[in-house]
Amino acid sequence: MTDLNGKHGLIVGVANKRSIAWAIAEAASRAGARLAVTYQGERLEENVRELSASLQNPLILPCDVTSDQQIADVFTRIGQEFGGLDFLVHGAAYAPREELAAGFPFVQTSRAGFNLTLDVSAYSLIALTRGAVPLMESRGGGSIVTLTYLGSERVFQNYNVMGVAKAALEASVRYLAADVGQKNIRVNAISAGPIKTLAASGISGFSSILQVYRDRAPLRRNVDTAEVAAAAMFLLGPAGRGVTAEVLMVDAGYHATGM
Ligand code: NAD
Repeated sequence: MTDLNGKHGLIVGVANKRSIAWAIAEAASRAGARLAVTYQGERLEENVRELSASLQNPLILPCDVTSDQQIADVFTRIGQEFGGLDFLVHGAAYAPREELAAGFPFVQTSRAGFNLTLDVSAYSLIALTRGAVPLMESRGGGSIVTLTYLGSERVFQNYNVMGVAKAALEASVRYLAADVGQKNIRVNAISAGPIKTLAASGISGFSSILQVYRDRAPLRRNVDTAEVAAAAMFLLGPAGRGVTAEVLMVDAGYHATGM
């Protein structure tokens, strides 16, 4: 089992107990890490505080990733409380619901919807990595993991502008990895199979995507958040020390399926 004793991590992207980022937080905490967990806006604060009560002495902080000030405040607090940072989990994503609705023509993607989706779902990884780098450098290195989906490479019905954001996110993983690698900071993505979460509920026809995976993925089933968290432990912990700039598929093998 991954040992994260004495390590400090930042988890961005917990909305509720079904969040993939929450499963990773639980696994990291079980492995011995002390965590900072952020919430997006007051609406989610209580959820995140209640959930985090099961963690070891967590630091709970507000962070809307569209705000440079809130991002800066997060890293200031982490510097004060933890004195450094060993890992970052990025699980923030958003697209306007109407642009993922059944029958929405991708060609109608609005400029505002595009900008907001790319800002929250892709640019935020760059901004958070920038904030994390000095704190990770002080520890001699670190590991950053974000969450993506195969819709970055292939067309999935109704995934629309989120697919474009995931393509930008995966390219950002590679450019960030190249930029911060000399500081012994690794940057990777996990491409998860479909899982019923709050974010997934915004994608029209999501249940039929789940069914297609059950029918066609090599493992003939879907994955769950604990399986994504297990892969994250590999990338965050010492076993993944030689891995960076990678998109690791945790999707029951679906990505390899042609027909
Ligand atoms: P989720 O709804 O639990 O998590 C999405 C998170 O993004 C929420 O915590 C939300 O608060 C946060 N967020 C949205 N806008 C934000 C903002 N402006 N500032 C800060 N945070 C913001 O759903 P999830 O499925 O656990 O999603 C986590 C990640 O996993 C996302 O990147 C998602 O695209 C990715 N992913 C999900 C699936 C799936 O099928 N559920 C598959 C592959 C990848």
